[in-house]
Amino acid sequence: MDKALLGIYGIKLKEKKEKEKLKLKIYPSCKERNAYNAVFCSRCGLPLEIKSAIVKSELRKKADKLLSDILRKNPKLSKLLEKLIEKEVEKKLKELIRVNTIAGK
Ligand SMILES: [Zn+2]
Repeated sequence: MDKALLGIYGIKLKEKKEKEKLKLKIYPSCKERNAYNAVFCSRCGLPLEIKSAIVKSELRKKADKLLSDILRKNPKLSKLLEKLIEKEVEKKLKELIRVNTIAGK
């Protein structure tokens, strides 16, 4: 292999390594870097998928709290949102009833 070719290969290897680094999973609770394809965290041993689910549910809780704080401070917005949700629920219910009616035939 000549030097130019090796150079290209070397650059490609470097690029690949950079990409692998980007794929590392860093978990907020223990700050451990895990390979992108790791199943368990190398530090705390928790399954990574369950961990990410826990993080997601914590984020969800924070988002819920934030939303309820905003709504408490803005009663008008709260009413508006209530109506929107009512409409959406009504729409979904109608869809469900329609689908069930078709399925029942
Ligand atoms: Zn961990």
